[in-house]
Amino acid sequence: MNTTITIAGAGPAGLTTARHLAEEGWQVTVLEEHKKIGKPMQCAGLISKAGAVINKLPVQDCILNEIQGARIFAPNGEKLFLHKYETVALVLDREKLDLNCLKEAEKHGVEVRTNCKLIDARTDTVFLQQDERGEMLKTKILVGADGANSKVRSILGLRMPSENFVNSFQIRAKGRFEKEFVELHLGNFAKGFFAWVVPESRDTARIGIGTSVQENAQQALDKFLKEKNISVQKIEHTAGVIPIGQPLKEACKGNALLVGDAGFHAKATTGGGIVTGSIAARIAAETITEHLRNKKPLKNFDKNLAGLNKDLLLHWKVRRFLNSQTDEQLNRLFEKMKKAKIEEFLEKHGNMDHPSLFAGKLLSNPKIWFLLPEALKALR
Ligand SMILES: Cc1cc2nc3c(=O)[nH]c(=O)nc-3n(C[C@H](O)[C@H](O)[C@H](O)COP(=O)(O)OP(=O)(O)OC[C@H]3O[C@@H](n4cnc5c(N)ncnc54)[C@H](O)[C@@H]3O)c2cc1C
Repeated sequence: MNTTITIAGAGPAGLTTARHLAEEGWQVTVLEEHKKIGKPMQCAGLISKAGAVINKLPVQDCILNEIQGARIFAPNGEKLFLHKYETVALVLDREKLDLNCLKEAEKHGVEVRTNCKLIDARTDTVFLQQDERGEMLKTKILVGADGANSKVRSILGLRMPSENFVNSFQIRAKGRFEKEFVELHLGNFAKGFFAWVVPESRDTARIGIGTSVQENAQQALDKFLKEKNISVQKIEHTAGVIPIGQPLKEACKGNALLVGDAGFHAKATTGGGIVTGSIAARIAAETITEHLRNKKPLKNFDKNLAGLNKDLLLHWKVRRFLNSQTDEQLNRLFEKMKKAKIEEFLEKHGNMDHPSLFAGKLLSNPKIWFLLPEALKALR
């Protein structure tokens, strides 16, 4: 069997890459190891409204809730309250989003093979397992969009140490929630990351936690709920790995590219990767098209990712800084940030996806100068 482009992984990054490529007329095959697209669901489904609009994500019938702001809690319970008085983020039915991405891809002629796992790849040949049977596929280009534990990434020899990932555990639960606001909680219960409450409605929310891979995320979530006295009725749970490493220096090797979580195109601050993965998907499709049509090097992918990587690097630096702080240091930082009126600043200039757009403004704002030691430490 021959195909021009093979994509491993039918998550949003793989399907979006496939759709863009098929729109340009290329023959694309997507391999998905699971039987059903969108399952298992491992996501809180929170994305910026601007990110959805600008990147034309097919969110039409999957919006469950609209978010106007956030409460961000220090370990001692002190909080920053950000309220935009308009919708800044959307809570999505993530399974439906993936199915919409599938529909868009198939509409443009993409072949999606489910229950089909990529097991190896050599130059122009992909080895796969379909319904327990082995098969070979000739391909010009391979895209690894196979998630945080990417097989393609390891085939390319890019082994990532465990500190580049956090384990997560999330429950969907009944309780009483403030529908317009998400909550983020920093503290010892979430070593290396944070806990979140993302409301679907007034009575249902996704409550989750990320922790360093040495910790048990499920136990960490229990500890968080107990410590914060959050009483809820669990409906279901999910778990997954979140990449928090810095952007890869090489997301293209030979005839293979890495996109989405596989390529660390996720925000290390929050773990959000739907919007950034879809940006990387568009860039991958443009680079592949230029390569096939005009013989431009595929390696240009790394150069073409520079804008996205600039933001992802900032996210990573903030994550590295936060992870270097003790709970006491974080408490003091929150105190200082409140005094510096950071809430006002973030309400006006904050951007969930592109911190580089407001980082400069932050440093040039005299009110915030006494946060400079922390800012400089974070950005070094
Ligand atoms: C608990 C949790 C909460 C999250 N919350 C948010 C959030 O609120 N907002 C946000 O933006 N992001 C969130 N994320 C991150 C988000 O889910 C990911 O960034 C996003 O799914 C990445 O998309 P992707 O297409 O790169 O990878 P994935 O969605 O992981 O898709 C990869 C696909 O590849 C398939 N696959 C893997 N290996 C193979 C193989 N060898 N052969 C064939 N197929 C294979 C998998 O089955 C999967 O379908 C969260 C993640 C977790 C774990």
